Amino acid sequence: ETLNKGLEKTKQSFFSKLSRSIVGKSKVDDEVLDNLEEILITSDVGVETTLKIIGRIEERVARDKFVSTDELNLILRDEIADLLEENNSDSVNDFTVPDKGEDPYVIMVVGVNGVGKTTTIGKLANQFKKKDIKVVLGAADTFRAAAVDQLIIWSERVGVPIVQQGMGADPASVAFDTLQSAKAQNADVAIIDTAGRLHNKVNLMNELSKIKRVMAKVVPGAPHEILLVLDGSTGQNAYEQAKQFALATDINALAITKLDGTAKGGVVIGISDQMKIPVKYIGVGEGIEDLQVFNRQEFVDSLFN
Ligand code: GDP
Repeated sequence: ETLNKGLEKTKQSFFSKLSRSIVGKSKVDDEVLDNLEEILITSDVGVETTLKIIGRIEERVARDKFVSTDELNLILRDEIADLLEENNSDSVNDFTVPDKGEDPYVIMVVGVNGVGKTTTIGKLANQFKKKDIKVVLGAADTFRAAAVDQLIIWSERVGVPIVQQGMGADPASVAFDTLQSAKAQNADVAIIDTAGRLHNKVNLMNELSKIKRVMAKVVPGAPHEILLVLDGSTGQNAYEQAKQFALATDINALAITKLDGTAKGGVVIGISDQMKIPVKYIGVGEGIEDLQVFNRQEFVDSLFN
């Protein structure tokens, strides 16, 4: 299964450490909990979320007196599933968009360069297209020529229309044109790529608000989804970016990429818990099919099976 494959490194590192730490032990004691704490932190679950998990297991041990190390897996699995924000997906293949009637469902995508933003948009467009969901892309990351070019390449590869005005164009104007074009074509979804320059927070905030304002003029209520793309292999950097973007705009969905190449998959758990924003998609490879709808039960199952 692809989900398993994408999380292989995280799983191996987490479980080899976990099983080594409980060798020869039958019950969960302070030493087991100390080891578990260290394992969770080194898997990039984050300190706050780790302490929350450890605290809950301690309560359980205090209550039940004896908790076997065999039970520890089951308890951990329940606690982790519980900490992940629900995103209401039925399965990892559940690529759908809410029906907005006459209007397209508008997804505005944000994230810093290099995290896999363009790739994620291309993969997403591909999944939608396969389900006969009509997509229009908008190249509003006009700060870098490469961003516009890359998105054009993806639009050709997937076979979906793109609206672009080249590098240096006003992002809000590109977003406006994209939504008008999406409406005229009766598209089901418009995906707008925007720039993510974190070095100037005020500029970023102003630029994103302007794009949002302009979008809402064409499609009331747009953008319906503000999707932040984070590189899962950067661990603590991803947390920092999530915090910064959440200050700049109302992020309501996360895509965490590059989970295939990293043992830091715990970042999914910590970010979802700390930001209280659901992880909607995970990237598990460079290929066009390597994007999945995040489903917390399947995520936990693949970590623990
Ligand atoms: P952007 O600058 O944020 O638009 O980043 P790109 O979409 O251009 O991606 C940067 C690099 O990350 C490219 O080489 C992608 O192939 C790679 N990439 C994106 N998503 C994934 C993923 O889920 N797994 C892996 N292994 N690589 C990815």
